[in-house]
Amino acid sequence: MVLERINFLKDEINKANYKYYVEDNPFISDFEYDKMFAELKELERQNPLLITPDSPTQRVGSISEKFFPYKHKYRLYSLDNTYNYEDLSDWYNKITKEFGEQELVCELKIDGLAIALTYENGIFVRGVTRGDGITGEDITNNLKTIKAIPLKLFKPVSVEVRGEIYMPKTSFEKLNEENLKNGEKPFANPRNAAAGSLRQLDSSVTAKRDLSMFCYTAILEAGRNTEIKLVQQNQLFDNTHTSIPQDLHTSFKTHYDSIMYLKELGFKVNPNIRLCKNAQDAINYCKEWDEKRFELNYATDGVVIKVNNLAVQEEMGFTSRAPKWATAFKFPPEEVTTTLLDIEEGVGKTGAITPVAILEPVQLGGSTVARASLHNFDEIKRLDVRIGDRVYIKKAAEIIPKVVKVIDDEEHYNRPAYNPPEFCPSCNAKLNIHEGEVNLYCDNPDCPEKQRARIEFWVSKDAMDIDNVGPSIIEQLYIKGFIKNAIDLYKLNMQDFMQLDLVKEKSAFNMYNAIQESKTRPLSRLLTAFSIKNVGKETAGLLAGEYGTLENLMNASEESLSNIEGVGAIIAHDVYEFFRNEKNLKMLEELKSLGVEPAPPTQNISDKLKGLTFVLTGTLQNMTRDEASEIIKQLGGKTSSSVSKNTSYVLAGENAGSKLDKAQKLGVIILSEDDFVKMTEG
Ligand code: NAD
Repeated sequence: MVLERINFLKDEINKANYKYYVEDNPFISDFEYDKMFAELKELERQNPLLITPDSPTQRVGSISEKFFPYKHKYRLYSLDNTYNYEDLSDWYNKITKEFGEQELVCELKIDGLAIALTYENGIFVRGVTRGDGITGEDITNNLKTIKAIPLKLFKPVSVEVRGEIYMPKTSFEKLNEENLKNGEKPFANPRNAAAGSLRQLDSSVTAKRDLSMFCYTAILEAGRNTEIKLVQQNQLFDNTHTSIPQDLHTSFKTHYDSIMYLKELGFKVNPNIRLCKNAQDAINYCKEWDEKRFELNYATDGVVIKVNNLAVQEEMGFTSRAPKWATAFKFPPEEVTTTLLDIEEGVGKTGAITPVAILEPVQLGGSTVARASLHNFDEIKRLDVRIGDRVYIKKAAEIIPKVVKVIDDEEHYNRPAYNPPEFCPSCNAKLNIHEGEVNLYCDNPDCPEKQRARIEFWVSKDAMDIDNVGPSIIEQLYIKGFIKNAIDLYKLNMQDFMQLDLVKEKSAFNMYNAIQESKTRPLSRLLTAFSIKNVGKETAGLLAGEYGTLENLMNASEESLSNIEGVGAIIAHDVYEFFRNEKNLKMLEELKSLGVEPAPPTQNISDKLKGLTFVLTGTLQNMTRDEASEIIKQLGGKTSSSVSKNTSYVLAGENAGSKLDKAQKLGVIILSEDDFVKMTEG
């Protein structure tokens, strides 16, 4: 029984290894692979007699036969990994028992391809893939096309450097788009794209791909790790220069110092490396990056934690496949595979029909996922997704998971292709394509689903912000016939709410009250709530800021609208037309008669911040970002959503991400919340 399971796991893992390392086309997610691998390791631990030399637990990676094999001078290992902090603490405690408290170095685990680079006297001579750790593929010529790999170092040292080749996420997306256009298969993830690009027989193809490299290890000439002695053959590049002493040594006692030296030599080192005092410090680093990782333009699947002291590293040594002095904490998966059970067609507030994937429930990023976005019908065609397929789903920066790839096994081709609907799933009206758009639309103004979506949007945080009236209440109100559109909300009385399931007097009062309170929301919110085509929260803010009152906006000419910075001709046209439509005008009148009248625009209290543009990022402690924006506007300043050279200040709260990085790069002044309060007070 155990033997059978072990053999099954070995077969599955070996099959996965081949698809992943040789074909760059994995058929299971890394998370599932790691789960099988951990199970095999555990079974072998319990039954050591069943361990065979060909077990994947005894080896690293795999090699293809595309390139010339090259035997590594120093073996390249893999890393043991864990998905939880307890194991991380256990690993650290074991070390401290033997060696006392140890400093740890935390580095982002770059999800790319491990490479060993050899430099002789400062000149790049060879680059080899990790392969199975003992033998790799010589891909020197392809590596020479990567600009982050120096062909000549700042100092004439001889050194072997290891690092990770990766493809930036944005380049990966572009490459996949091109592949699809040319009828080629998309890559599953940036790692596979990097591997596929690197192992091209024609270097000119590699050169066209945007690849880069972060370096994380330097190996001394003697191959020992106690003190990295980087042999400087001579200090000038001129070998014939005899007055320079031969064999100058640079030595290091810590991993961290060796990385800093790599930087001095001209290698690209990841800027987020951090020296940590103990396991708790390292765990904090992991937690911080588990959240911030999505802001990076490269994929990272975890954190590598290494003992800093090289003498301790040397004493600890290696297992058959990984160093004992390092471990990888893997982030909860961004990507898993599951089965597509159905495709549901939803109707949005604009009438756009959006396909939603109904999935066999699966754990992803700490929650169970049973639905995922498929964006639009073009995307379904692009992915060639068919009901019954195994699919990759991914949770990225956005909260809603999406289907990113189909596993095109044999069965996929036996399933019927999916055809987009011709009629509205809600009201059965014929669906239309609007010019210049990919979506299918239901243009029936009375379509029940469309109306319901509009009401849900009307009460949402971005629009009229009506607390206590959520989707399930709206659904009941709608089904019971109390409301047909958002205006009807303002006609409800407390008794109506009390007829809903599970609604008692107190919550009925809260709902009624929240609706009444919303009547005087600022103009920008009312404009957002109207769901005018192409007018979201930001544009609504611009329009409200420019015209101040609904009457002024209604009377604005198309030309005046299009002269607003950030509005443009298309939006101007949509807004102009909205206020010329009979039905909309009737709706506005009705709203007015029900007492829905936006609060007068925020008055400028002073011109203190006049001419200054702020970008807000991260979480503020004592105010929301909306509140901070309001203060800026009251003091005559402006806010913008992106950092540019025209940005005056970036107000950065906790967990600020890429906007902060960009501000630092552009030299924009960064304000803390305290700085901001001081600046705006008084
Ligand atoms: P790994 O990717 O888990 O970890 C080791 C590698 O991490 C090193 O070889 C190095 O390339 C890399 N690395 C990145 N940043 C680093 C840093 N700062 N310091 C040190 N190393 C760093 O191990 P692996 O042996 O390369 O691959 C095994 C993993 O690959 C599995 O755990 C699985 O997630 C994935 N895999 C998936 C499939 C599949 O079918 N989906 C198949 C095989 C392997």
